[in-house]
Amino acid sequence: MSIFRTHSVACPACATPIDFELVVSVSADRRPDLRDEILAGTFQREPCPSCGVPFRVEPQFTYIDIARGQYIGVWPKADRAQWQERAAQTRANFDDGMGVRATPEAQRVGAGLAVRTVFGWPALVEKLLAREAGIDDRTLEVAKLAAMRGVEEAPLPGPFEMRLAAVDDEALHFAWIGSRPEAPEVWRVPRTLIAEIEAEPEAWQAAREAVAEGDVVDFQRELLAA
Ligand SMILES: [Zn+2]
Repeated sequence: MSIFRTHSVACPACATPIDFELVVSVSADRRPDLRDEILAGTFQREPCPSCGVPFRVEPQFTYIDIARGQYIGVWPKADRAQWQERAAQTRANFDDGMGVRATPEAQRVGAGLAVRTVFGWPALVEKLLAREAGIDDRTLEVAKLAAMRGVEEAPLPGPFEMRLAAVDDEALHFAWIGSRPEAPEVWRVPRTLIAEIEAEPEAWQAAREAVAEGDVVDFQRELLAA
């Protein structure tokens, strides 16, 4: 079920308190429109009724898509330093509702879901895009490392966040997201890189293990938390 709760949020531009319908959980199976809004970057983005400036709240909700096999704990990017604790909370919520502490029926549904924990909207969008494109998220993280290796002046993750922003038949489009104006452009990486990595599992095994820890599959998890 998709659940919203009204909270008072201060407009970042004019500080007027606004009653905002904050999302608590999204069921993409029943509300595909919410998934579309997440992908479009419009979900939980509203103009302030007082000053008109649009603003977006940081995410903190559970995203469930049974058809696509995704259970994602989505946390604000400010929580990155607590990524291990947040991942444990997400896992505990999953265990209560669809895992080891759930009813047998719920467990059967839960068995088909990959549990992940992400921080911030771009990291959630990335997981949805990768699943839609049939790309394993560990392979995607390894592909980022491989893509950076080939570039002499690669931007450093930390000040910038490297996220999959689009996929087409030819290419993976990675955005470097940052608040500074000199944010680098979108990188276009041939999609064949995914197949190349998967064709050499032994060569990439160590990298595949390093990009993930538990349910947090993100090579930047420590870099962005710093
Ligand atoms: Zn305002």
